Amino acid sequence: MSGRLAIVGLGPGDDRYLTREALHALGEAEVLYGYGPYLDRIPSRGGQSRYASDNREEAERARAALSHAAPGAKVAIVSGGDPGVFAMAASVCEEIAAGPGSWRTVDVAIVPGITAMLAVAARAGAPLGHDFCALSLSDNLKPWELIERRLDAASGAGFVIALYNPISRARPWQLGKAFARLARHLPGTTPVIFGRAVGRNDETVMVTTLAKAVNAPADMATLIIVGSRETRIIAREGRAPLVYTPRAVEEAIA
Ligand code: SAH
Repeated sequence: MSGRLAIVGLGPGDDRYLTREALHALGEAEVLYGYGPYLDRIPSRGGQSRYASDNREEAERARAALSHAAPGAKVAIVSGGDPGVFAMAASVCEEIAAGPGSWRTVDVAIVPGITAMLAVAARAGAPLGHDFCALSLSDNLKPWELIERRLDAASGAGFVIALYNPISRARPWQLGKAFARLARHLPGTTPVIFGRAVGRNDETVMVTTLAKAVNAPADMATLIIVGSRETRIIAREGRAPLVYTPRAVEEAIA
């Protein structure tokens, strides 16, 4: 009998963001794999074993889960947000591509979740109302020069940009350099949204501008959305501003 491996997106925060499909997949699993804090979000069920690992050990976790599933077990790997966005689903595919033939017999199901970019955008208004793209600022898996080239291309072409993995202790200078790079193509007044721990009880959302963004605090739980030339802020008395990108653009951007 071939085993089953569900790669389950938990959404950005607490239970409110867990889909019914994700809940079902977690309930079916005999074994759960994942980063410890993500596993802690899932209520324990009798007879279900858990293997917590460090956030960086994605390849190792994927191999362990595939080895466990191949002989016939029902396994789930959990991922924050959506498992296909800078997360476990690609890691599992990489390991299946490189691994033994038995891993190709595993019944793989990828269960989507609300990715951080969508959760942050929803809090701020409608910044992703027109064309947008997403970039991870981590240079662990690609050279920094490539990131700069993509920042140039995306901002020059008028995309709103969602920045995942903006900063960490091991990568302290990259975010400042990224803002400096974007400032070559965009005015200092361009709206920038910082969403931290969105969907959790310590959530914060802050709206600023590209000129002031360098001084705003950010960490690994922060997702940043940098507007395009079209993105606007509606100021409101006694309420948070609404940030939006109009759906239509009249002119081709030079
Ligand atoms: N698979 C995840 C992303 C993993 S990369 C997803 O789809 O959301 C990790 C990055 O996601 C973090 O550095 C941060 O930029 C972002 N992130 C994840 N959860 C977040 C949350 N609750 N609030 C804000 N950003 C979050």
